Amino acid sequence: MARKKVQKIEKITSLTPKELEVLKWVQEGKTNDEIATIIGNSKWTVKFHLKNLMKKLSVTTRAQAVSQAIGEGMLQPSEPLYPAGAKTEPRVNVGIVGCGKGGLAVMSILKDNPLIDIRWVAEKNYQAPGVELASKLNIPVEKNYKKVVGDGVDIIIEVTGSKDVRRELERTKPADTELIGGNSARLLWQLVDERRKRHEEREKILKQHEGLYHMGFVIENIQSLKDVAYALVDYATVLTNTPAGSLALFDERREEMVLLSSKGFSEDFNKVERWEIRKGELTNEILNQNEQVFIPDLREHPHKNRLLLKEGVRTVLAAPLSVEGRIVGILSVNDFKKRKFRAEDVSLFSLLTLYAALTVERVRSIEELQLLSVTDGLTGLYNQRYLIEQIKREINRAQRHSRNMSVIMLDIDHFKSYNDRFGHLEGNRVLKGLAKLFMKNVRTNDTVSRFGGEEFCIIAPELNKLEAVKFARRIIKEASRLPLLKKKLTLSGGVATYPEDGKGHFQLIEKADSGLYRAKGLGRSRICS
Ligand code: GH3
Ligand code: MG
Ligand code: MG
Repeated sequence: MARKKVQKIEKITSLTPKELEVLKWVQEGKTNDEIATIIGNSKWTVKFHLKNLMKKLSVTTRAQAVSQAIGEGMLQPSEPLYPAGAKTEPRVNVGIVGCGKGGLAVMSILKDNPLIDIRWVAEKNYQAPGVELASKLNIPVEKNYKKVVGDGVDIIIEVTGSKDVRRELERTKPADTELIGGNSARLLWQLVDERRKRHEEREKILKQHEGLYHMGFVIENIQSLKDVAYALVDYATVLTNTPAGSLALFDERREEMVLLSSKGFSEDFNKVERWEIRKGELTNEILNQNEQVFIPDLREHPHKNRLLLKEGVRTVLAAPLSVEGRIVGILSVNDFKKRKFRAEDVSLFSLLTLYAALTVERVRSIEELQLLSVTDGLTGLYNQRYLIEQIKREINRAQRHSRNMSVIMLDIDHFKSYNDRFGHLEGNRVLKGLAKLFMKNVRTNDTVSRFGGEEFCIIAPELNKLEAVKFARRIIKEASRLPLLKKKLTLSGGVATYPEDGKGHFQLIEKADSGLYRAKGLGRSRICS
């Protein structure tokens, strides 16, 4: 399901002209009521268009719709700097006197305007900052402004800061040439500079949108949940320019959060792998929202989060990740100082959470499938296929660290007669009970598998032969006391140890199996090696 949605983004989405119009007004920050008035329809019509276009764009909020439409090239980041059709209007010829910082700033913004033709610049110092740009643009540079003042340009912009120059220009310029100088030139310079900054800002936002759009495809190809989480946290923090962030998964069954990836926090924080969701706490608050939650100062926020406060977090921008109404997790970015976010960044973050939810869901279902394919349905233990791969891995590890590694093969004695007497279902209960008992008794690095019908195999890294035999004896003793048994059952087993019994997985399994065979021959209920 999730996959379908991500794929949809690859398609070219098409909006109707009306939907696009509505979306443009949304981008302008208009409310539904305002849009209704502007386009001359009812609020319900606006809502109807919004609902349709959000569906088409596979998003759930207005902000996401704008970002997504920009990412797909349907909307400009904001209205273009120069309106279409500008080229057909009459051009203005301009001369610039002074090529210092002011001249450079004015020139660099005017040069992009199709309405304006810079005919010449005048500067007596050839080292001045604007001279290089002028020659790059093929604009004639005149050392003495007096030579060009009478050329008949429409406007002369004087940015030398010299009163004498201005007076001289006023005196000698043709009557229909306008002069902008002194304070008006300074004002112009400032307006121009601000416009340049705004333009740069827009370019930056466009780049971010494109980046986000492409990140979607990159993440598409990651298959592990940890890697996906790492990429998402990293991207979210870069996008919002924050020093820290985290992605936690919601464990539906246990109603807990599981930390998948974090950035910028202490080791203590990372050690907390799981936490409960409690009423009145921040996690609970975020999970109950439909949109991102912005907390400018956590210390003053009613819903506390001890862990984040301990880390010194002040600002939190977090969002619940959900797919079709089902909660998947939380993506959060944090700052250690009080701060605000630009509206554009919040909107991008919101779009990112949408990708994050779909991606986490997709990868999680792949991982669950992979897990199913390596486990046994009845007992939940690993199956034989996985076990063999794991033995290979453990042999490599033992070899690298020059350590022992043991394989224990166990088989229930006379299980057929137990089945015959008490029925297959009762037999199944025994198998499940044994699986639980084995899992309880092994160490974290051991691997327990159901090797066949009533045969189990345990890989015990680092155990030598003697230790493994002792461990196996203890475990079959425990097994024979399993409370659910209708009749006392015993187990037999064989042990093989790397490297003394063999250096390959096949040899080790065969050796353990022959130990088991010998145990059966010697009267069962024992371990042989
Ligand atoms: P031995 O002591 O020689 O191991 O005798 P056994 O009866 O345990 O060995 P055998 O190999 O003859 O039979 C294994 C039996 O295990 C056959 C079947 O009844 C039982 N068994 C295998 N898989 C399952 C299972 O999934 N559920 C149940 N209930 N029984 C199973
Ligand atoms: Mg058997
Ligand atoms: Mg048996």
